[in-house]
Amino acid sequence: MQNIDLEPGSPHVVIIGAGFGGLSAAKTLSRSNLKVTLIDRHNYHLFQPLLYQVATAALSPADIASPIRAIVRRQRNISVILANVSGIDLERKEVIAEDHRVAFDRLIVATGAQHAYFGHDEWASYAPGLKTIDDATYLRRRILLAFEKAETETDAAERRRLLNFVIVGGGPTGVEMAGAIAELAKRALASDFRAIDPRQARIILVEAAPRLLTPFDPTLSAAAKRSLEQLGVEVRLNGSVTAADCGSVALGEKRIEARTIIWAAGVMASPAGNWLGAKTDRAGRVIVNPDLSIPDHPEIFVIGDAAYALGANGAPLPGVAPVAKQQGAYIARLIELGLQGRSVAPFRYRDFGSLATIGRKRAVVQIGAFKLSGFLAWLLWSVAHIFFLIGFRNRVVVAMNWAWNYLTFQRGTRLITGMSGARMDDMTMPAGRAIPASENTRDAA
Ligand SMILES: Cc1cc2nc3c(=O)[nH]c(=O)nc-3n(C[C@H](O)[C@H](O)[C@H](O)COP(=O)(O)OP(=O)(O)OC[C@H]3O[C@@H](n4cnc5c(N)ncnc54)[C@H](O)[C@@H]3O)c2cc1C
Repeated sequence: MQNIDLEPGSPHVVIIGAGFGGLSAAKTLSRSNLKVTLIDRHNYHLFQPLLYQVATAALSPADIASPIRAIVRRQRNISVILANVSGIDLERKEVIAEDHRVAFDRLIVATGAQHAYFGHDEWASYAPGLKTIDDATYLRRRILLAFEKAETETDAAERRRLLNFVIVGGGPTGVEMAGAIAELAKRALASDFRAIDPRQARIILVEAAPRLLTPFDPTLSAAAKRSLEQLGVEVRLNGSVTAADCGSVALGEKRIEARTIIWAAGVMASPAGNWLGAKTDRAGRVIVNPDLSIPDHPEIFVIGDAAYALGANGAPLPGVAPVAKQQGAYIARLIELGLQGRSVAPFRYRDFGSLATIGRKRAVVQIGAFKLSGFLAWLLWSVAHIFFLIGFRNRVVVAMNWAWNYLTFQRGTRLITGMSGARMDDMTMPAGRAIPASENTRDAA
């Protein structure tokens, strides 16, 4: 146990989840003399916005994740527990995390969200989503294996199926994945095969709404669509998935044959609502008070993707990293000031804008009324993402990888891993893999 200089009787703050929200709360509380325990089921903090680059072989997992213990090693009032939380005992004020019961005086729940298949959980094994490092390396394997298998496939129909990639969901993650797969196929892999031409691959982005990137201004949606089409992506708007299996996806009467289907369409909050017996919205997010506490429990707060909080305009706050980070910092201050008997105004989100990238040199940016697309937007996107990455090493490595990729079109991490026990027919079988609980409300349909 660490030796911490705490005020006698100092309240114990427990934080579940070391994602954007939980870590922001912990870091803000590191300046206090409160005892803080941070619980996460992973030993790393993940920078989800760059996951798609791991899935498409541009970055490796260690470039976008940092060990939680290393991040808080200088914050002597913070302890870390690696464990999967399965419940909260409200009466005894304890978090149930595997064989630990962690007592709390204040609790911050920041457990994020997971994929949602609109009541069709059976699609999960055919159309994996992107939320964790495991998801990303699994998708990377599926994508690279599709080309390998196509190279030796003699049946023309099956070869076509292998070279078709369907991405479901035209939010930022779907747009980013589609652009990155198109560049992988049409540039990075273009001359690496002998029997197939990877440039013949079809990348199809399906979106149920009449435009891509619905949270953005329509002019930026149109710019994103144009940029994707220039990269060779086929964009299908107004198309809802009605069925999926290991070789195709149906949009009503129409069926697209593809061995690789990627889900970027729906999300559901983590089960925090069940643990707390709290009221949730349709997406499972806990409906919180204006100070992010839950009704009847002023000592328990839910933040980030797990929470349903309203913005100043009365609309629910989006599931994005800045919301989670600002809420984490806000709760930390509220707890500290509350213990001094001071009150704090309700949480107010400051929106610094939205960004999404398309391929290796285009992006769309919207900051209030300011709109930008193309290369300058991509530069802004790159600087913002490098800035917000945690750790000097990660920033340098990611910047160098992008520069290399920009100049050469090459992808440094084209490794097919996790093959022990798996075979090439991974591609033709349902994935049969439990999708880890994961999180993403940014792409909620
Ligand atoms: C592919 C992708 C791309 C994205 N791109 C962007 C972007 O460009 N810009 C942007 O602003 N936002 C983006 N987002 C959304 C952003 O990542 C989320 O809004 C943000 O991570 C939410 O923060 P959070 O703290 O609520 O949850 P998370 O950051 O998801 O953290 C939740 C943490 O809780 C832990 N956890 C969950 N359940 C348990 C449990 N039972 N026990 C213990 N620990 C648990 C998880 O391991 C995780 O560490 C993206 C999301 C995804 C998936």
